[in-house]
Amino acid sequence: MKKCVEKVAVVECKDYNQTRVDTAVKKALELIDFKFEKGKKVLIKPNVVGCFPKKQIATTTNPSIVEAVCKILKKNKCKIFIGDSPFTNPEASFKASGIDKVAKKYGKQLIFEQDKLVNVKNNKAKVLKNFKVAKTVKDVDLIINLPKLKTHSLTKYTGAIKNFYGLIPGGIKQRTHMHAKGDKKFSKVLVDIFQNITPDLTIMDAVIGMEGEGPTSGNPTKTGLILASKNGVALDIVTTRIIGLNPKKVYMIKEAVRRKLYSGFKVLTVGKNPPKLNFKIPSNQSKSLTKKMLCKLFKEKPIVCDTKKCVKCGLCASKCPAKAISLKPYPIVDSKKCIRCFCCIEICPQEAMGFKK
Ligand code: SF4
Ligand code: SF4
Repeated sequence: MKKCVEKVAVVECKDYNQTRVDTAVKKALELIDFKFEKGKKVLIKPNVVGCFPKKQIATTTNPSIVEAVCKILKKNKCKIFIGDSPFTNPEASFKASGIDKVAKKYGKQLIFEQDKLVNVKNNKAKVLKNFKVAKTVKDVDLIINLPKLKTHSLTKYTGAIKNFYGLIPGGIKQRTHMHAKGDKKFSKVLVDIFQNITPDLTIMDAVIGMEGEGPTSGNPTKTGLILASKNGVALDIVTTRIIGLNPKKVYMIKEAVRRKLYSGFKVLTVGKNPPKLNFKIPSNQSKSLTKKMLCKLFKEKPIVCDTKKCVKCGLCASKCPAKAISLKPYPIVDSKKCIRCFCCIEICPQEAMGFKK
């Protein structure tokens, strides 16, 4: 594990104009003194998630950020892989995100579950003692993490640490949810992965983020920032503060600091002063005591909140790790089986699944 004294660069970038993104990414890397070595094999891990035509811009890492990184890597004669394991149809998801075109131009698109899988023995793990990853993940010299700034219904926030859950290939992700019910245990799983496969560099797309019912059903929020750090935990501490969360109350960050993946909660930022933006948090994460009690009472049971939106595609039912959803013809959730992982809300392309109000 690298020594945890890394800086976090905060750089303004008002939109996804390629020239502006290139300049902002370069500046962020200069601010944290990151230099690439020539001729390395590099894996870029964006946040591809799935197809969300209405809100793609706020859901997935923008292709302009991926391209900015690729341009720098190409200059350094690196061999580039761009990989993820989206929840829904992986080819269609890469296409919907626009990252497929960048991959074609600069390197190779990698859908993790289509690669040879290798076992990772995880001695320091608290939950995930063994897990599988694509062989390329283990073979490359450098991993660059490109998360998107979003709120999250299960973990409150998703950024650097959470983006590495996408390293787990395909359906194994769903099964892993079954072993890690609830935010606390799931956060331990996230840190188990991050502790074993740590990015060498994290660059966050916070030009347009997502607030409210993230990571896929929230509202696009213009944030106008690109952040970078050699330490993903330090970056998560800075970005949670920007969106108005206390990083000490985000379990995955607390757990990562507890396991010394970063030295504490003090972080040195360079570049622009981090703004205070106060994102709306997901309704089930409300700080209001009454709402919290109501959530407990109704056990946060997800239901189809709008049958007009639901197209009865059955995706939520097929991806539910607890097999708690049946289609009659609209999805009905069996609250006894439901483990409250909120994958059904995350996965629904129509934003038809939501919390009982
Ligand atoms: S709730 Fe969404 S994912 Fe589930 S069947 Fe309806 S449209 Fe499909
Ligand atoms: S119904 Fe939804 S929240 Fe419940 S276990 Fe299935 S996917 Fe997870």
